[in-house]
Amino acid sequence: MSSDVQTKRQAVRIRVRGVVQGVGFRPFVYREAARLGLSGWVLNGEQGVEIHLEGDASRIELFLSALETHPPAAARIAAVETERVRPCGYAGFEIRNSEKRDHPTVRISPDLAICAACLRELFDPRDRRYLYPYINCTDCGPRYSITLGLPYDRPQTTMGAWPLCDDCAREYHDPFDRRFHAQPVACPRCGPRYKLLIGGELVEREPIALAARLLREGRIVAVKGIGGYHLACDAMNAAAVWALRERKFRKEKPFALMVRDPDTARRLAELSDEAERLLSSVARPIVLCPARQTIEGVAPENRDLGIMLPYAPLHHLLFAADAPPVLVMTSANRSSEPIAYDDEDALARLAGVADAFLIGERPIARRVDDSIARDTVFGPQLLRRARGYAPCVVTTLPTSQPILALGADLKNSVALVVRGQVIVSQHIGDLDHFAARRAFEETIRDLCALYEVDERELVIAHDAHPQYVSTDYALHRASISVPVQHHRAHIASVLAEREAWEARVIGFAFDGTGYGDDGAIWGGEIFVGSLCDGLKRVAHLRSASLPGGDAAAHWPTQAAAGFLAAFDDARLSPLGDQLGRRFGLALSLARKNVRSFPTTSIGRLFDAVAAVLGFVREASFEAQAAMWLEYLARQSPPVQPYPFPFTDAELDHRPLLANVIADRQRGRPVQEIARAFHASIAQAVAEVSFTLAPRFDVDTVVLSGGVFQNSLLLEEIAARFDGRAELKIWCNRQVPPNDGGTSLGQAALAAFSRHTKKL
Ligand code: ZN
Ligand code: ZN
Ligand code: FE
Repeated sequence: MSSDVQTKRQAVRIRVRGVVQGVGFRPFVYREAARLGLSGWVLNGEQGVEIHLEGDASRIELFLSALETHPPAAARIAAVETERVRPCGYAGFEIRNSEKRDHPTVRISPDLAICAACLRELFDPRDRRYLYPYINCTDCGPRYSITLGLPYDRPQTTMGAWPLCDDCAREYHDPFDRRFHAQPVACPRCGPRYKLLIGGELVEREPIALAARLLREGRIVAVKGIGGYHLACDAMNAAAVWALRERKFRKEKPFALMVRDPDTARRLAELSDEAERLLSSVARPIVLCPARQTIEGVAPENRDLGIMLPYAPLHHLLFAADAPPVLVMTSANRSSEPIAYDDEDALARLAGVADAFLIGERPIARRVDDSIARDTVFGPQLLRRARGYAPCVVTTLPTSQPILALGADLKNSVALVVRGQVIVSQHIGDLDHFAARRAFEETIRDLCALYEVDERELVIAHDAHPQYVSTDYALHRASISVPVQHHRAHIASVLAEREAWEARVIGFAFDGTGYGDDGAIWGGEIFVGSLCDGLKRVAHLRSASLPGGDAAAHWPTQAAAGFLAAFDDARLSPLGDQLGRRFGLALSLARKNVRSFPTTSIGRLFDAVAAVLGFVREASFEAQAAMWLEYLARQSPPVQPYPFPFTDAELDHRPLLANVIADRQRGRPVQEIARAFHASIAQAVAEVSFTLAPRFDVDTVVLSGGVFQNSLLLEEIAARFDGRAELKIWCNRQVPPNDGGTSLGQAALAAFSRHTKKL
């Protein structure tokens, strides 16, 4: 045999980037190398997994194709770099210890739902982890929520306090075992446990069975999960649900449900294929889907139910212990404070809320809420990005400059750019709450520490709003700060997700509230431009007066007063009386231009129409009136839009509102009026797009901002673009269209600003 000796013995160095640590990657490499008779080593480097392979060229090829076709289940490979090197003559294959050289840009895995193999063991009486609530393996279990530092090794997790027993140690060190280097590995002999605290008494015997019984009896139980505590009760027990609302000070905002299994979910709601996929994905988000039945007190005046499947072993154990099959599972907090994750804090804050506490001993390193997702006509959409998604790298930017983007004050998230990788934090909450402010600062410290970023080197991007807490934070750092206008950040978030750095687009930022270039309250803005050249505002909603300014967001009647101020009293009568005293007062303020501020917000236009159609009370949570209007519109078949003309770079709401008022006075069903209003907004998006696209020579339309959480509006828009292939529509896919996505957009615009080093 005289085949080419050159190709016989080869060596390659492979670097794999992405979510590749803490997901069973090294054992996978070890097993494949052993199977193929290749020698060399594998280790966790700071930028991913590094592999040195030596052997037959064709076998190295086989290895690379295995990497491509069946990597470990929980891994998310972003890039594989291969480089030919000189063979060193290794005899065998080994797993080497982690190296620490550089700034880490390795990606921490998000928390993962229990896998099928662990679930089987959990309910197998012969298994040594039978009914053990902390069962996990390299394919599943907590990651981000237990990580204290990098590299991701057991001493750097909250499991450091539990030394492995002999059996667990054997599994942990055996490359052929499913638990090889599974950092949170534990068993009933060596690991943490659960206990139940009820009426000041600690129950250690069968705490889960007892908790399930309390739930059956209609009690409220605080349950420690992966990223924090939940408050749970039987969703079908209306008294329990109302008690929870009362104790939690949560009047009307929908509660999330956890259901026993997919069949129960299908009975409660209509699940599209995409919704099913989201529901059972490893991230296990809460999925919003159209309800088949109303459940008293759970989601008042809302078409959708928010449903999730059990994701922690504990949840499966609760259902197996006969907990009610449909549980309310809401973040354990009061109102919109961040979720409680620390035991003492939970006990203190929830003392008057929960009847009992199911407490797990494993500490939670950081709070991570449940994520919220749904299927829309434009594909899946995230409304809250947290557990299961954070802290994934969502995209890259062409910069070597470390950037911290602080997001908006509502639905806050922050984004960190390290070596061009953009890490978006979990949902943090509304920064007007003290606890959220603390979480905001913790998260920043946390991300900077994990990725070893020197805070003094950072360029800090923040919202241009002068009164934002986040702005104040930015201005008190030594770093360079870059203010970014709120609605540009929304549009930029979509472009950044797609790494569309040069794409020129028309961007619709339809939103509640954001600080405009001119100090006005913006929220109906149309931009043309790109990330690299900037976004120019080319059109907007006709300005209206908003008595009370930002505070008017709580009172739809105030928004109505502002938008209707231009109509004379004869036209408004008798509507004014139905809208109540607050409307009358606000109307006179608006007309005298006292304590009134100019606004172009589509969110406030939704509020105004909701008020005219009967939503005259105070909104008890953000966007409630708009959601109510959508709910109403869903009850009507499609109808013709109202006139909503686009002239001189303005969308004129006056003819639209005149028609809404006239129809209301005439007694047209409010459902139809609401539907016609939705159609009008959609029609405007289509008309403006088809007018501006040829003028600016663009072929892509971007939709972002809180208003585009309205799935009916998205459907109405899609219908109007159907068959018009000359325009593409881009929506957010990885970060929310609401303010939770603005940190990404800020980071992207800052990366293209003059302050930032380019690559
Ligand atoms: Zn597992
Ligand atoms: Zn053990
Ligand atoms: Fe916004």
